[in-house]
Amino acid sequence: MKLFKLRGGVHPSGHKDLSAEPPIRVLPLPNVLYVPLQQHIGAPARHLVSVGEKVNKGQLLAASQGMVSAPVHAPTSGRVIAIGDFPGPHPSGLEMPTLTIEADGDERWIDTEPPSNPFALSPEEIALRVGAAGIVGLGGAAFPAAVKLNLSRNSEVHTLIMNGGECEPYLTCDDRLMRERASQIVEGIRLIAHATGASEILVGIEANKPEAIAAMRAASVASPVKVVQVPAMYPMGSEKQMIQVLTGQEVPAGGRAADIGVLVHNVGTAYAVQQALCLGRPLVSRIVTVSGGAIMAPGNLEAPIGALAADLVRACGGLRIDAARLVLGGPMMGTQLSSLDVPLVKGSSGVLALTRAEVEHTRPGPCIRCSSCVRACPMGLLPLEMAARIRVGDPAGAVDWGLKDCIACGSCSYVCPSHIPLVHYFNHAKGDLAARERLKMKNEATKKLADERSERMARIVREREEAARQRAAKKAAADAAKKAAAEAVAAAAKQKPEEVTA
Ligand code: SF4
Ligand code: SF4
Repeated sequence: MKLFKLRGGVHPSGHKDLSAEPPIRVLPLPNVLYVPLQQHIGAPARHLVSVGEKVNKGQLLAASQGMVSAPVHAPTSGRVIAIGDFPGPHPSGLEMPTLTIEADGDERWIDTEPPSNPFALSPEEIALRVGAAGIVGLGGAAFPAAVKLNLSRNSEVHTLIMNGGECEPYLTCDDRLMRERASQIVEGIRLIAHATGASEILVGIEANKPEAIAAMRAASVASPVKVVQVPAMYPMGSEKQMIQVLTGQEVPAGGRAADIGVLVHNVGTAYAVQQALCLGRPLVSRIVTVSGGAIMAPGNLEAPIGALAADLVRACGGLRIDAARLVLGGPMMGTQLSSLDVPLVKGSSGVLALTRAEVEHTRPGPCIRCSSCVRACPMGLLPLEMAARIRVGDPAGAVDWGLKDCIACGSCSYVCPSHIPLVHYFNHAKGDLAARERLKMKNEATKKLADERSERMARIVREREEAARQRAAKKAAADAAKKAAAEAVAAAAKQKPEEVTA
């Protein structure tokens, strides 16, 4: 199959050999699991259980609310012991609403009711079941999968791309999943294709995963699923770059893949769809890579959502030496952690403990205008110009240079010889702009409310004045009638009695 050239991109050291070979192990069940209500893009889920309540594995704990949201299910059987704030997987260690479950060790599932033939389900029913199973994009974006399915049906998607790129260094969870569970993934892919009506189904896998490519090809024989080997380079696993390489098409600036008739899902998401539709199991666990030079025995674990990163590290033998940096996800786009005592969420693909040598603490120098960042940017942006605007406190100026199209891949920072943390500038500026946008919307909403109140008060005053005017007019009319009647009586009294009787 013809492939198209990826613009920009870099070749960071993969470090995948650290964790790629050992088979997936199941994490020994922790005693306590911490399940955040916000594990996806969109509105947080609304909890339905109370403290002290017993729950079964897979039971609905929190319902989705709003158009873009996802429900949350119990990752094991046990008892709800707390509902409240707990540190979330965020660089600031900010607390977030969390359900705490004490495991009873029985792993007792709810009664599941899978359909006898999921391929007989209508596309609408598939999207409903995927939504009810709490499935979100497992590549890291955590966008609710059902919303994507519905969007793609309305946009007449013709091409389904399954992303098996996994271009982030260190991460091998998708690689292991494809090697070990290819037939379930392919079944999930066919179900997603059935739900969207896509006629072309492509699975893009980087060339550095030959075993995964072979396993997926073997599982796809006699199916419309085409497994395509794509070059190993970063950020090949990004949605827009995978589309560009496989189809030659570009997602328009500010647009979505569905706008050009393409739907992209991660291979892990396809596996979750298969589990939901064929076994009736909601998303309560995922495969996570535990790696980095500081980890004693790196590998991949199947872990329940809500397990602490510390539980996973312990299961991999603990830390060999002190870690210079802890990361949830990959080193390029993941979240830097201040502690391992944060829970695993649905979008967490890795827990990394990196050594000082792996992190390379180098002080940034001045920009020498070498344009390496420009050549590396897969979005065709000018990172040095955006950074220059941000440095002088002009994020709006950076937007004019394309800040909103930046996918925060970090390729520019990676190649910068002056070690300027460009992607940090961009993420910070985007956060700043989003905060300003939220403030603007809040001010507009407050102004609208104040205007509506003024209008309401003015209307009440007008209505009161009108009522007073009508009352006065009525009174005047009544007075006039009374006066006329009195005058009539007086006039009648002045008449002679015989005139009256006549
Ligand atoms: S790579 Fe770094 S030094 Fe070179 S132009 Fe970009 S910001 Fe400047
Ligand atoms: S982080 Fe943004 S600006 Fe830098 S290379 Fe990636 S897309 Fe381009």
